[in-house]
Amino acid sequence: MEKQRYERPLIKRMENDMPNKFGMKPENFPKSKIDGVKVSDLIAEHGSPLFVISESTIRNTYRKAKKAFATRYPKVQFAWSYKTNYLDAVCSIYHQEGSWAEVVSGFEYQKAINNGVNGKRIIFNGPDKTEADLEMAIKNGSLIHIDHLDELYTIINLTEKIEQKPRVAIRVNMDTGIYPMWDRFGFNYENGQAWDALNKIMASGKMELMGLHCHIGTFMLSAKAYGVAATKLSDLALGIKAKYGHEIKYIDLGGGFPSKNTLKGSYLPGRDVNPGFDDFAEEISSALLKANFAPDSLPLLILETGRALIDDAGYLLGTVISNKRSSAGKRTTIIDVGVNILFTSYWYDHKVSPAQEFTQFSETTTLYGPLCMNIDVVRDNALLPLLNKGDHFVIHHVGAYNMTQWMQFITLRPKVVMIDPEGKVHVIRDSETMETFSRQESKPEHLKKFEL
Ligand SMILES: *Cc1c(COP(=O)(O)O)cnc(C)c1O
Repeated sequence: MEKQRYERPLIKRMENDMPNKFGMKPENFPKSKIDGVKVSDLIAEHGSPLFVISESTIRNTYRKAKKAFATRYPKVQFAWSYKTNYLDAVCSIYHQEGSWAEVVSGFEYQKAINNGVNGKRIIFNGPDKTEADLEMAIKNGSLIHIDHLDELYTIINLTEKIEQKPRVAIRVNMDTGIYPMWDRFGFNYENGQAWDALNKIMASGKMELMGLHCHIGTFMLSAKAYGVAATKLSDLALGIKAKYGHEIKYIDLGGGFPSKNTLKGSYLPGRDVNPGFDDFAEEISSALLKANFAPDSLPLLILETGRALIDDAGYLLGTVISNKRSSAGKRTTIIDVGVNILFTSYWYDHKVSPAQEFTQFSETTTLYGPLCMNIDVVRDNALLPLLNKGDHFVIHHVGAYNMTQWMQFITLRPKVVMIDPEGKVHVIRDSETMETFSRQESKPEHLKKFEL
């Protein structure tokens, strides 16, 4: 029989953490495999830390979301929000599933084109589209969502030298009962800015007004707000029809659905309480069907859902560096995953699971990253079993925003691998090396020599 590991007995002070209504139950079971592939093998082969993406989870979540909407409303189209995760392999899964591309910069636009997306299937959002970006988007027949009047005038000017008629929509911001209200993007509904922009578009006769867009916030915990947004955009669409006899083709409600992560300070786990696709689909489809569209001219419903589609599919694997006690006696564990590659640790209490069997004893632990920075805290109070130096762990639901907002700081950014539905592992982004940096930097001649 293998000798059991000794864990010294410890008398510990009661920690007054926030309990949930089920008490302070340990949040963990070992997570030793991802889609059938051993965590220890993944780390042995690709290093630690390591981002892992599950292709099956992406496809399953996408299909679940699509079904929630398509069963309630006849015309639904998703557009993948590039900034949420623009690794080419990830985007291509969504495109294979039928998703268009939603981009917010010239860089993202180019990425979508390089991924082989038809220009007509690219939605171009964001406040910073250069004249060159707009020219390219007009020529490609992309859907340009106008953010401000300066952009509108630039497009009108461009129509003098470009043959094609720009296909446009406006972004609308509005009061949906959620505060603070996001009013910095687009034109306001309540104060008449949106109507002003629409009148200018229609009066110019130079553009094809295709749709209406809004993106009311992110990690929205109220499905009702989407019903309000759908009603307000429907009202605008019907107003355009009444005034100009022009029918818009689509209503785009943006993204913003929450994933299953737990927001910091939340009383209950996100998995149990955050509204899901069915809740949002119900509110949105009911609002659209209730509006007075003629049954044969219902607008296409576009959704630019980001985090709710990808978060679950991403894992971050890592290794324990050391254990310590704080001056107050609290257990602290140093891991090789820092906040520079886990940006979302500022917002969420990410679930952390040991990757190997552990004993029943658990203790409230602070997880520190490897950076030499006081702010590098991955979890403040995680109830975890003892993790020893060299042990592995899995951080859950990291698919959204981390692989785009990660920062190269003190350490190099790690590899990203994807596990395909057959269990085959593919490297989809290599780790950074010293060469990554020497390629970017240069040193003036007079600084090349010194003696120390
Ligand atoms: C970021 C963004 C999205 C995706 O938002 P999520 O909250 O990740 O769903 C969609 N549309 C626009 C315009 C965005 O800026």
